Amino acid sequence: MHSASPVAGAAGADAAADDSLGSSISDHAGAAEARLRKGFGPRVRRLHARIGKAHHQAEGMGFSRALLAGQADPLQLAALVRAVAPAYALLEQEAPALAMALGGAAIPWPLLARGAALQHDLAVLDRLPVTPPSPAAAAWLEHLRQLCREAPHRLMAHVYVRYGGDLSGGQQLGRQANAILAAHGLPALNFWTFAAPIEEIKCSLHAGFEAMALSPQQEADLLDEAEAAFLLTQRLLAELETISAPAGPSDPIALLLKHDRPVPRYTSYPTAAAFSDAVGADQLRTQLAQPSTAPLSLYVHVPFCRHACWYCGCHRVTTQLGSTVVAPYLASLARELDLVSAAMPQRRRLAQLHWGGGTPNYLNLQETAQLWALIRQHFDLEPDLEASIEVNPEFLSRDAVLQLRQLGFTRISFGIQDADPDVQQAVNRVVPVPQLRRVMGWLREAAFSSVNVDLICGLPRQSPERFRRTLELVQELRPDRIALFSFAYLPEQLPLQRRIAAAELPSQRDRIRMLEQAQQRLCANGYEAIGMDHYALADDSLAEAARQGRLHRNFQGYTTGGELDLLGIGPTAISQFPHLFSQNQRELKAWSAALARGELPVERGLEVHDPEVLERRELIRQVMCRFALELDDLGRFELEWQTLQGLAADGLVELSRQGQRGALQVTSSGRWLIRTIAAVFDPQQQRCASGSRLL
Ligand code: SF4
Repeated sequence: MHSASPVAGAAGADAAADDSLGSSISDHAGAAEARLRKGFGPRVRRLHARIGKAHHQAEGMGFSRALLAGQADPLQLAALVRAVAPAYALLEQEAPALAMALGGAAIPWPLLARGAALQHDLAVLDRLPVTPPSPAAAAWLEHLRQLCREAPHRLMAHVYVRYGGDLSGGQQLGRQANAILAAHGLPALNFWTFAAPIEEIKCSLHAGFEAMALSPQQEADLLDEAEAAFLLTQRLLAELETISAPAGPSDPIALLLKHDRPVPRYTSYPTAAAFSDAVGADQLRTQLAQPSTAPLSLYVHVPFCRHACWYCGCHRVTTQLGSTVVAPYLASLARELDLVSAAMPQRRRLAQLHWGGGTPNYLNLQETAQLWALIRQHFDLEPDLEASIEVNPEFLSRDAVLQLRQLGFTRISFGIQDADPDVQQAVNRVVPVPQLRRVMGWLREAAFSSVNVDLICGLPRQSPERFRRTLELVQELRPDRIALFSFAYLPEQLPLQRRIAAAELPSQRDRIRMLEQAQQRLCANGYEAIGMDHYALADDSLAEAARQGRLHRNFQGYTTGGELDLLGIGPTAISQFPHLFSQNQRELKAWSAALARGELPVERGLEVHDPEVLERRELIRQVMCRFALELDDLGRFELEWQTLQGLAADGLVELSRQGQRGALQVTSSGRWLIRTIAAVFDPQQQRCASGSRLL
């Protein structure tokens, strides 16, 4: 068996003796273990084969090595136990009934249960200083909750990885942990102590797993999820490496960690998570049929990419087929534009146009011109049309840049993410610095009115030193806007991210250092900070809109044209009207098929008419875009005001009150946590957190 000792998921004896796992850990395995392993059933063998690599990675991580060497800090052990206790409580409450329904009746729950042991250990560790909340553990817990609701067979992978680890490698880790605590004069922990012989419990656990009745798809999911469970463990281990001295209440890092929790990006409210199939083509058609002379904003989704960047969370189709896939895509887009135009009582003007993806410059010159012409066929362009496009600099040529400008694009955005070659390798997106310099030269030559670059903080192998060099390059290129995103590592939701080893991710402290470094450097060089993750030169229209309180947010992020209706075309594109969101089919095939049938390709959406929801939408927009808010009737927002007091006490917001009127101002420390502040007005978030963290 493997050794994802939950409490560490680290070095374990049991994984060792599986042939697929190599010999490095087998030193910890005894002859009895080897004999037992011979008796594994097919499912347990498959599980072992699948988790071997992730197990070895976890074993090699700093905290695991320190623990096995008897050098871990008691504070790290305290953080570990505190982090995992809620997840074990959840497993023990929910998993027995779910396992039973799957046929896993033989799983020996009373013998496995860690609840009483954890209660004892938490009390023992209470004498140690407070440790920061663990984002990894919180993500794990949320993920487990989701599995309980949606995929109990996947939940069983966590049961196997956790308890299997505790019964195997965890035994050795436990001995080391208790030796460390004893050396510091602290009592032993009970976590790794079981009430029956270990081999006996393992046999029952294996029998329970072999007995579950799973379909071939569920079997495959179980294996996938076992790997994901190990990756979650790695995240936890990476965090533990950064825990040392206790952080005081005024420590800015402690404050960020305290308040950093999963929150939406609030590119809309309600968020896309609330979309359902209650909205379809009929609602969009009715909306489009409303007479209007107002100009529109049009979004076109180009889904193709030549290869996948491993951090990517976008809807995309990775293909090298070029025109073979683009030609039918353009034919479908033409159908969609025909249908949309037919649904509108009059020809509309465009004030904004945005091509996003995927990779819009996947299209060759002729295809790009064809798409532009298609749009012109259906819409009149305002003389001051703001036309923007996202491009991948890896495949960009001077000819393509000049063509885009000639067609009428005025704004362009490209991703650098990180300029360091090692970081680029680690995320499978390699664009050498000379190419980035060439691209910027062409964009300036073509006289785009605004150039944006994207950076990502938190990528594997990134460090403050490497990121400093990326920032120096950005300073040299001097784009008009910079979007600095914080990498959301969600391997449990995004299988592509499983190619990224958690062990290679920078620590939370380094991530914060990089974010602060970027803020200081950019603000010292003429950029203004906008919201949590955007910077713009003072004369850029985004900075002007922010200063004048005209900033809006839509599915592309911050925008200056928030009052416009947004029409989205292409697979996955979202349309946004004051009372309606509608999202197109996310799969390319389903989107094309709907159009081939002559239907508007709407998959899901949301109608919003409730005045309270509309009011909350405006409050959230104010926080996200104005970083300030006035409330006329505090009586109606008592709960929110109370929650804000906690944020004010930690210096993230300043509150003032006159009678029933209240005002909020986000402070510079609160800027990073602007989404958390906005979430105070989102009742759904208060009930059940979802989204991503800053760190
Ligand atoms: S180019 Fe963009 S959309 Fe395509 S894989 Fe990379 S990050 Fe994702």
